[in-house]
Amino acid sequence: MSSRTSDVLVIGGGIIGLVTAWRAAQRGLAAAVVDPEPGGGAARVAAGMLAAVTELHYGEETLLALNLESARRYPAFAAELTEATGHDLGYRRCGTLAVALDADDRAHLRDLHALQQRSGLESEWLAGRECRRLEPMLAPGVRGGLRVDGDHQIDPRRLAAALVAACERAGVVFHRSPAERLDVVRDRAAGVTTADGTGLRAGQVVLAAGSRSGCLAGVPDAVLPPVRPVKGQVLRLTVPRRYAPFLSRTVRAVVRGSHVYLVPRENGELVVGATSEELGWDTTVTAGGVYELLRDAHELMPGITELPLTETCAGLRPGSPDNAPLLGPSGLDGLQLATGHHRNGVLLTPVTGDVLAHALVTGELPEEARPFTPLRFGPVPQARPASRMEQPA
Ligand SMILES: Cc1cc2nc3c(=O)[nH]c(=O)nc-3n(C[C@H](O)[C@H](O)[C@H](O)COP(=O)(O)OP(=O)(O)OC[C@H]3O[C@@H](n4cnc5c(N)ncnc54)[C@H](O)[C@@H]3O)c2cc1C
Repeated sequence: MSSRTSDVLVIGGGIIGLVTAWRAAQRGLAAAVVDPEPGGGAARVAAGMLAAVTELHYGEETLLALNLESARRYPAFAAELTEATGHDLGYRRCGTLAVALDADDRAHLRDLHALQQRSGLESEWLAGRECRRLEPMLAPGVRGGLRVDGDHQIDPRRLAAALVAACERAGVVFHRSPAERLDVVRDRAAGVTTADGTGLRAGQVVLAAGSRSGCLAGVPDAVLPPVRPVKGQVLRLTVPRRYAPFLSRTVRAVVRGSHVYLVPRENGELVVGATSEELGWDTTVTAGGVYELLRDAHELMPGITELPLTETCAGLRPGSPDNAPLLGPSGLDGLQLATGHHRNGVLLTPVTGDVLAHALVTGELPEEARPFTPLRFGPVPQARPASRMEQPA
């Protein structure tokens, strides 16, 4: 079949692949994206919290630096994307309140606060009544909380749609078909063959297929990224105008060990998330998942049971062994990776675009991205991801 050529071919048109293609095109590279459904992927489901500070976990201090750098770039990135496309991204600098409902949650939050302070981050401890003064719909039993004004949000569906539009305007070519295999010629990635047999040739290939990045045929085993799917279920409710403002910032908590958050959008949508399940390719919305989210959200905000439930959905986070992304040159000439963003892909979109464009033009990772080289996992053959054994439908 015919063979079409570009400087850069990006496999996967989720937000990570799209931002890579957009930034590459802005650097003067002829860029193409291969994806049957560009603008889909996990961004269809994600809550869109830009939560560098409240998502801090023990042992993830290196990732924190990248998350903070991306958060710092967000205002200019969002303004540029809106300017380029005319799309409103639903970017809100409304802040986040992480609250505790019982003594255990309170102890957990106190630990998080201490870790944030040791890391030089801005967050303020509030008593329960101060939390309720900020957010009157909170349950009376709230025992305290952390106010983090620097953790913002964006609507990931709008972000994805804007990135598709920005790519189109920048001349990125879309091939709306799945890549069936990577083609390697003389030990160098040379392009892909799509499901309809078309050969797409490129000077460089970027693998950005989200949770499916670990299962593309043709990628040598030693280079295959150790990325696995991590299922998340999410609910969408609507706040009728007469109840507004129901919630003025993102509220989150750990209830009986499970994370729950409520993200209020300006258009009245209230996103309640999210489960975290290691179930391979399953994306079923389950009664148990919906029940747990509603139960925990109800403990946090009893009034939510009055709201219309407008959508339930599930998606797959591209998880990596250290929860951090794999960025830049792989062990195979001509192949770069932009994957493994796990629960921070929306937050990391601006910095990923900049890092990959730099790496595609210079062949090197910029300073801020060096810890995230795919080579940190070594060229040793890894346990094969579930995806190789059981291909998604
Ligand atoms: C429930 C949930 C909540 C989340 N909440 C947040 C949040 O609040 N904040 C945050 O920062 N992040 C959040 N995330 C994470 C974020 O959504 C992801 O990290 C991010 O969307 C990953 O983007 P991606 O482009 O790498 O992958 P994906 O979005 O998975 O996109 C991959 C793309 O590759 C395509 N593809 C796959 N295989 C092939 C192939 N063989 N050929 C061609 N194309 C292919 C797919 O069609 C898809 O379009 C959440 C995720 C989930 C599931």
